[in-house]
Amino acid sequence: MREVKMYIGGKWVEALSGETFPTYNPATGEEIARVPRAGPEDVDRAVEAARAAMEGPWGTRITPRERARLLWKLASLMRDRFEELLHLEVENSGKAITGVAGELQQAVENFEYFGGLADKIFGRTAPAAPYLFHYTVREPVGVAAQIIPWNYPLMMLSWKLAPALAAGCAVVVKPASATPLTALKMAELIEEAGFPPGVVNIVTGPGTEVGRYLVQHPGVDKVAFTGETSTGREIMKLAADGIKRVSLELGGKSPNIVFEDADLEGAIPGSLWAIFTSGGQSCEARSRILVHESLLDEFVEKFSEKASSLKVGDPMDPSTHIGSLISPSHWERVHSYVRLGVEEGARVVTGGGRPDDPALSRGSFYRPTVLAPVSMEMKVAQEEIFGPVAAIIPFREEEEAIALANKTRYGLAATLWTRDSARAHRVAAAIKAGVVTVNHPFTAFPGTPFGGYKESGFGRELGMEALDLYTEVKSVMILTRPKPVNPWKV
Ligand code: NAD
Repeated sequence: MREVKMYIGGKWVEALSGETFPTYNPATGEEIARVPRAGPEDVDRAVEAARAAMEGPWGTRITPRERARLLWKLASLMRDRFEELLHLEVENSGKAITGVAGELQQAVENFEYFGGLADKIFGRTAPAAPYLFHYTVREPVGVAAQIIPWNYPLMMLSWKLAPALAAGCAVVVKPASATPLTALKMAELIEEAGFPPGVVNIVTGPGTEVGRYLVQHPGVDKVAFTGETSTGREIMKLAADGIKRVSLELGGKSPNIVFEDADLEGAIPGSLWAIFTSGGQSCEARSRILVHESLLDEFVEKFSEKASSLKVGDPMDPSTHIGSLISPSHWERVHSYVRLGVEEGARVVTGGGRPDDPALSRGSFYRPTVLAPVSMEMKVAQEEIFGPVAAIIPFREEEEAIALANKTRYGLAATLWTRDSARAHRVAAAIKAGVVTVNHPFTAFPGTPFGGYKESGFGRELGMEALDLYTEVKSVMILTRPKPVNPWKV
């Protein structure tokens, strides 16, 4: 049994209360470590350490190029310890190793990308008056609280940390309670890379206590949150009193539209990955598959056949497509949605429960599941299931497909399958979502802005726009004529 510590002010510490909580391997149900259960007094010291860093050399003297070097050093240490990080992430998340390797690769590249941007955070000049020289500078927003979900623990950490550190902020990170281990492991690399004490602090504990307290803390200037829409709504309210800057990456119910002119050779495997990768525990999971009625029977048959052939199994096995869901309670939630879909009138074409293999009985494994036909009035078409459940929804016309795609409170991602490039542009323009992909399922690369419309949140991470989340713009105006101004002629 591992005992891990939090990282606050450059020191490895236990919670001041001495309390801990367990974390598990979801694939086996085994407890794998005990983690400090932070309380308000631990959050206080983390925020104090971050403020001290902002008031010390990190906030006042470090050059952007030095920040770049630190970020690259961190990326290089991650490359050196890739296997260690990978195995720990798989062990704590239960997800299939090949997918996690891709996420980790992206996390490394994300630090490199933002390292490259650290000395390119430009202001601009803009005409103000003929006798003034006006320019803008972008300054770090200060101390950022960063709250992370369990579905992509390390990748989400990189989406938060890399732009904040590039911009010169100090941070207090709170990983999800289900998956704290890789964030704490990253703190070792952060220390080794040479980030000064207090620049990155990691506190662990329940969101409803530690997260809540952190968001309201007067020493925090900015809150960056990724998680459920309902939590985001609460966080926005909690941050309101302090007029804190807020960015929210929230849930989704993203459409995947298969038009009548789609190439099914690409559309079927692509749609399969788009919903089932990460076991469907993905904010941008394309969980609503809108299929033109002329293709419906063929699509449902071939898609379901391929879904049932996916390997659900040991997450450490490179041939596994889908590992375990995060926890038994999440398994129950996913399963209750499948039952609800049946009550609402859909058919379970494939999946709908645990795999038969007795070796998997201790984990939270769920078979890839296809519900068909589904209509947008059903809850399974409206609510985020966050599991390997695809809802197939038929449509007749392009306009109808657009209307159905947009008929949700979410707006995170969408995928279109069509051979008609004019249609691709037309429909991409009409979809209310932060990212639209055409003829492929991949949504997120370092450099491509990612974030939501509507109740999927606001703010863009991953692209250059992420720097806006961690900087304030200051306008400076300097008198350039020799004669002073005397506005009132007094
Ligand atoms: P969650 O909202 O339950 O928890 C997210 C984080 O917030 C955790 O660290 C949790 O401890 C903390 N938290 C919970 N309640 C809090 C509170 N009241 N105050 C402060 N912090 C609190 O979400 P989850 O179940 O961990 O993650 C899954 C959700 O995240 C899904 O809805 C998914 O769509 C979303 N997500 C979105 C994106 C995106 O980029 N839009 C990416 C990944 C995940």
